[in-house]
Amino acid sequence: MTTQVHRIYNFSAGPATMPLPVLEQIQRDLLALPGVGMSVLEISHRSKPFQAIIDEAVADARELAGIPENYKILFLQGGASTQFSMVPMNLHTTGMPADYIVTGAWGKKAVKEAKRVGEVNVAATTEADNYSRLPRREELKLTRGAAYVHFTSNETIQGVQYPGEPEGVEGTLVCDASSDIFSRPLDVGKYGLIYAGAQKNLGPAGVTLVILREDLLMRSPEGLATMFNYNTHAKENSLYNTPPSFAIYAVGLVFKWLKGLGGLAAVEETNKRKAGKLYAEIDRTGFYRGHAAKECRSLMNVTFRLPTEELEAKLVAEAKAAGFDGLKGHRSVGGLRASIYNAFPEAGIDALVEFMREFERKNG
Ligand SMILES: *Cc1c(COP(=O)(O)O)cnc(C)c1O
Repeated sequence: MTTQVHRIYNFSAGPATMPLPVLEQIQRDLLALPGVGMSVLEISHRSKPFQAIIDEAVADARELAGIPENYKILFLQGGASTQFSMVPMNLHTTGMPADYIVTGAWGKKAVKEAKRVGEVNVAATTEADNYSRLPRREELKLTRGAAYVHFTSNETIQGVQYPGEPEGVEGTLVCDASSDIFSRPLDVGKYGLIYAGAQKNLGPAGVTLVILREDLLMRSPEGLATMFNYNTHAKENSLYNTPPSFAIYAVGLVFKWLKGLGGLAAVEETNKRKAGKLYAEIDRTGFYRGHAAKECRSLMNVTFRLPTEELEAKLVAEAKAAGFDGLKGHRSVGGLRASIYNAFPEAGIDALVEFMREFERKNG
């Protein structure tokens, strides 16, 4: 039963394109998981086959990112947005303010939720520069002994990415890595907590990966609502209640696909090459202009402008007609955004570069 399908190039920021081999495996095994005789959509989350699926997903994540044994790997619901609240509810209990480094729209939202829970110190914000850059180290006004320091490794809307961890941070580092998790190697041991909604770089919507250092579990207050307490999920290996079983299964397949590519170092190399091609075209003449400062450019979300808004609208429309979807930038930035996560094929970037060059030739 093969169906002839035509897939376009999907530059959507999220939910985003998934690896084709993963989609094919889902399709193959959708009616019956091998040896199980039932679909993953239908099996109990308490069943042996599902236990194996979630255990393998955790083991593969641990292996891929070299996650040390003293970190819990949780699959939660409510999206990264729920982590904006869960992080302070569980960790903002030391009597000290929490520091937030704000480099884009998602960081700003995280601050808004954290303020409902406790005292927040915005250690730096680049909002005055329309979030086009990262703060310099001397701009960071960090609190000595802060409850934790929160940052966003990749700001999906503005296309600004940290090359690693912010410099000069001591204490518990918390990272929203929703749009660049597993796009490159990361040193998990430097972090207290990392969270990421799956629908950009890990799979379908519906599950959020949380990587949490075990000693932080002590911080959760007694009276916290059960579902909002990390201890609940840590104790039950993400099976306290019905988990998003299909999404966990699909994310597990993505982990295996990443391992098959050679792991995160190999993936990073490909990502650098992919983004490099697009930025080279943006920089080739003055026709296209990148939004983010060069040294903070995202390898995942490439944001750029054209000389006029009319030309931007024209490019988006013509690109869509030519089979490039999802290129319209977020309204707060304007222009265009090409989201090119791990699963986005390099051939699609080559094709877009060619299209952009032709568009410039005709309209420049
Ligand atoms: C998409 C995104 C979010 C929000 O994720 P949801 O799963 O929709 O709640 C948060 N942070 C970043 C960096 C994102 O890209």
